[in-house]
Amino acid sequence: MGEENIYNIQWFPGHMAKTRRMITESLPDVDAVIELRDARIPLSSKNPEIERLCSSKPRIVVLNKSDLCDPDELPLWIEAEKKKGAVCIGVDSSSGKGVSTVGRSVTSACAEKIERNRQKGFSVRIRAMVVGIPNVGKSTLINRLAGSNKAKAENRPGVTRDRQWVKTDYGFDLLDMPGVLWPKFDNKICAENLALTGSVKDDILDLESLSIVLIDRLKSRYYSLLAARYKIPQQQREADAVELFELIARSRGMITRGNEIDYERASRMLIDEFRSGKIGRITLDRLKAIPHNSCVEIAE
Ligand code: GDP
Repeated sequence: MGEENIYNIQWFPGHMAKTRRMITESLPDVDAVIELRDARIPLSSKNPEIERLCSSKPRIVVLNKSDLCDPDELPLWIEAEKKKGAVCIGVDSSSGKGVSTVGRSVTSACAEKIERNRQKGFSVRIRAMVVGIPNVGKSTLINRLAGSNKAKAENRPGVTRDRQWVKTDYGFDLLDMPGVLWPKFDNKICAENLALTGSVKDDILDLESLSIVLIDRLKSRYYSLLAARYKIPQQQREADAVELFELIARSRGMITRGNEIDYERASRMLIDEFRSGKIGRITLDRLKAIPHNSCVEIAE
C-alpha cells in the first residue's frame, strides 16, 4: 500500500454517520461528556464533530496515555484546550494518575444542575459518558472511575449488558458502554498518526512504510531518543529515514542469513517499541503557539 491509499479511505463518511448517531442517541441521557484523546496525538485523535454535537453539555477533555507522550508538550496542549474554554486533564488510565481529577471535574462541571436538583429536593444523580476513538483507553478509564462499583455491577445476574449505568466514587453515574468515535482521517498526517499509535488497524499502511514514516517524524525532534535506544552514532544525524532504518535493524541484528536487512521483523520491532513507549515519551502532533493569546494547531 502506498500513500495514495491513505487518501482513498472511502469508509470515512459512513463511520462519521455512525459517530453522529451514537452521540445523538446517548446525549439526551447524560449531563456531561468525557472526551478521550490520545496525548501523543491530541489533534489527530480528536473527532471534529464532537464539539458541535456536544455543545449543550459540559465536556471534559481527557488527554489519555499521558505516560507515553512528551512531558514537555503535555502542558502546552492542556493550556491550548483551556484557552478554548474546555476543561482538559492529562491522564494515565493504566496507572490511574489523573483519574480522580477527571471524577472531580465531572461533578464540578455539573455543579449548577446538582444544586438545582438539591433545591427541588430531587435525588437524581448526575450521569456522564465516555467517548473516544478506538483503543484510546475508554474501557480502562471507565473501569478506573467505576472502581469497585464496576465489579458489583458486573456480578449482578440476569442484567443485560446493554446500557448499564455504573456508580462512581465521585457522585455521578457513568454509562457502562463507551461511545466509539471514528477518527477523521481527512488528511495523510492524521491517518499516519492514528496508524502509528495503533488506533486503526495496521493494514491502513504496511508496517515497513509505517516505520519509515515513524523514523522520518522522529529524526528531527527526537533524534537523541532514537540514537540512544538503537545506538546510532551521532554522525549519522543527517542520514535519511531509510538509512536510519537500516542502521536500527543492523544494530538489533535483524538481518537475514544472506546479510540482508530483515525489514519485516525490524519494522514490527520498531513500531511495537514506539507504541509501548520504549523509544521514549513522544508526541507526534505539533502545536504551535502564536502571539495575541491564541493558539493555532498545526500538523507537522
Ligand atoms: P478502548 O478501545 O478505548 O476501550 O481502549 P482500552 O481501554 O481497551 O485500552 C486500549 C489499550 O490501551 C489497552 O492495552 C490499555 O491497557 C492501554 N491503555 C489504556 N489507557 C492507557 C494509558 O493511560 N496509558 C497506557 N500506557 N496505556 C493505556
